[in-house]
Amino acid sequence: TDSIDTETPVYLKSAAHGWIPAVLLKQVAGGKMARVAVPKFKHENDLLTCGKMSKAQLMDTIDIPLSEYDNNVLPVQNVDANGNLEDYKDMVELPFMHEAAILYNLKLRHKNQKPYTRTADIVIAINPYHWLNHLYTHEKQTYYSNRLVWDNNEEDPRATLEPHVYEISALAYKGLIREGEGKDQSILVSGESGAGKTETVKICLNHIASTQAKEDYYYEDQIVKRVVESNPLLEAFGNAKTRRNDNSSRFGKYLQLQFDKSHNRTESYGTRRGQVPLVGSKCDVYLLEKNRVVQHDDQERSFHIFYQLLASPDKTQYWSELQGKTPESYSYLGRCTTTSIEGVSDADHFRHTVEALQLVGVQGRDLHMLMQAICAVLQLGNLRFGALHGDSDKSTVVSLEELRVLGDLIGIAPQNLSMCMTERTFTTSGETHKVPLNPIMAKDGCDALAKEIYQKVFLWVTKKINDATSVDETAMKLGYIGLLDIFGFETFEVNRFEQLCINYANEKLQQKFTQDVFTNVEKEYIAEGIDLAEIKYEDNGEVLELIEHRSGLIALLNEECVRPKGNDFEYVQKALAINKDASKLMIHRTDRLSFGIKHYAGDVMYSAEYFVTRNLDTLPTDLQECMEKSSNEILSIFQADDVHAQKPHPHNAPRQKSNIVAATVWTKYRGQLENLMKNLRQTESRYIRCIKPNTEKKELLMEHNLVVDQLRCAGVVAGITIARSVFPNRLPNSLVLTRYSNMCDARSSTAGQKSAEKCKLLLNWLLKDMDAVNENGDKVKAFVVGKTKTFFRAGALEWLESHRIRS
Ligand code: ATP
Ligand code: MG
Repeated sequence: TDSIDTETPVYLKSAAHGWIPAVLLKQVAGGKMARVAVPKFKHENDLLTCGKMSKAQLMDTIDIPLSEYDNNVLPVQNVDANGNLEDYKDMVELPFMHEAAILYNLKLRHKNQKPYTRTADIVIAINPYHWLNHLYTHEKQTYYSNRLVWDNNEEDPRATLEPHVYEISALAYKGLIREGEGKDQSILVSGESGAGKTETVKICLNHIASTQAKEDYYYEDQIVKRVVESNPLLEAFGNAKTRRNDNSSRFGKYLQLQFDKSHNRTESYGTRRGQVPLVGSKCDVYLLEKNRVVQHDDQERSFHIFYQLLASPDKTQYWSELQGKTPESYSYLGRCTTTSIEGVSDADHFRHTVEALQLVGVQGRDLHMLMQAICAVLQLGNLRFGALHGDSDKSTVVSLEELRVLGDLIGIAPQNLSMCMTERTFTTSGETHKVPLNPIMAKDGCDALAKEIYQKVFLWVTKKINDATSVDETAMKLGYIGLLDIFGFETFEVNRFEQLCINYANEKLQQKFTQDVFTNVEKEYIAEGIDLAEIKYEDNGEVLELIEHRSGLIALLNEECVRPKGNDFEYVQKALAINKDASKLMIHRTDRLSFGIKHYAGDVMYSAEYFVTRNLDTLPTDLQECMEKSSNEILSIFQADDVHAQKPHPHNAPRQKSNIVAATVWTKYRGQLENLMKNLRQTESRYIRCIKPNTEKKELLMEHNLVVDQLRCAGVVAGITIARSVFPNRLPNSLVLTRYSNMCDARSSTAGQKSAEKCKLLLNWLLKDMDAVNENGDKVKAFVVGKTKTFFRAGALEWLESHRIRS
């Protein structure tokens, strides 16, 4: 055959390189030899992770006599005494630190319906694509809370708990209420599209809500209910079906749960001593993919709410024109073949959306206004433009009936609407004059307006939710648990402005992640009473510098956007020239409109086409001014960017005039991110890394390459590497004793001593020839015994393991 199945990965001892990954093929020579495939050096990793290896990647096969097998070959996966594969709950304890070992450990757990795995403080969540009821029962919720929040007599209860995202939510809650030193908390959930971020956030949120009282009783509480229900509500407006996920969030979200810390409850029915009540929440949203309103791929949809409204049996109460209309009636929706999602009724969803809206106070007139704004977006898509009197430099609306209906809907005279869409007003040296637009430009303006209105709708809903759920920060002493559900690192065939924005956010978060892992390692060393060793790590400061610094990619793009004839081409040339020494910047050999960045998660080439336009993102003044006359308040007033503003923008307040350059998308976004990072820095952060096991949305299936790529992007491997840079392995002292005691002949009287002391004696004996040499050439011990764990230098645990297997 051309390729080799790599289902049985092993490590092979090589004289030159130590243990290297290889594959056990079969027994040969009548069972006396085992044949092992050895990869070419550069394919080592792939070999164990890709599932199949081609002949080209293979260097050699060697046959090993069975008598020497144990000495030279080690399984990647652990096998217990009965010959069953053994998995690790915490991957820090893996005897071998290798991508393959991580992958196979996750795979084994995934297969056994254990979606959660720990690496030190991080929880890795593999999307099971199948609701595992037994994991999310009320009993489970209570159990994790009891063990982690309320029982104070265990050192680290996690040692005996199956990993779960409930441990993250429970520990966040515990951190918040910790007596005296309680701190704001955050839970950072990351992963690529379809990995399960949004579901995970909901699982954590429900768990935190469940801490509010002993029984299901908490849900009766209107505040908690509002907080919990606001999630699906935002999804109706901000999520859409994509190829990768039927319910894909097309925006980033940071939900902060507010707790009243001044209200220290005493024990009574349904509450615990020290429990702090959840009193509200506030939500920040980032980068809605508003382009989806006017176009989307085949097999994808626009935002859910459009289909929900059109499927509703009582849609005509919002707008009589919806009578008999289907998604196909609207050009923004109808161009694709997929209008419904399997197994989900849009009509049912609409009922829930309306109920949730009512819960946050959107009903009656407001509800009508909201639905009509959505109809306005749809109707805009049906306007068609043609040449005016045969002059193709000028345009006119040719779908007059559609225009009239739209005018009625939003309360603007059709001729005004038509004028502002087909002409543009310019002001030069105090004089205004009008310039006609050709049909293509007119259509573009119309699309821009539809996107802008939808964005306003989305922010309006977000603000309504915030108004209904958030409490005044000055009224009481509040504590926070923030839940971050933000787009993961993206790389496509063509990467655009949006991908750069998204990847920039991921770089920011990665930097924090690395710092946190580092700090936690430091903390662990201190807690174990170990001298702080020389921990080194590489961070992504250089990439951030390239993007952010004074003549970096953002600053130059902004400059290009204010330059009168600014364009994408000039931007790329300047960016490349000025940053030519930046090691993280890549030049495209042939395409001069492209540039690349070496991101922490991989190299990405960006096409700078439309960077200037996308960054400016301005709605023509004519359209803006026209909308201000609308009878629909969502269209006419509302400061687009502030989802927390307490009061609505007064109708006739002075507005910035158009000669002042509005903040660019980058500038606003960067400001938002700065705020987010500042906020996160004040919290104690915990991480959940979600992983998508396959692209087919199937349960139990795991595609190796897909998972390994994500592990790299999530910094899981890098994280473990930092954590293990000095002492690659650690084991609880108790485990050291049970595993290795019988390797020691000198079973001298250690009875009565503390386990740390016993470990020291045992390992001193077992590892006496294994002292290592550090960078300064000093001789150092191969292990250090801490209060509860033993830390091993490179090679030490591997040596123990290989000898344990033999004995
Ligand atoms: P996006 O970035 O596109 O928003 P996401 O990471 O938020 O993606 P989710 O919407 O949370 O992904 O999950 C995608 C789908 O995977 C869900 O609709 C659900 O079917 C399934 N899923 C996710 N988590 C779980 C889980 N814990 N148990 C069962 N199914 C899950
Ligand atoms: Mg999501």
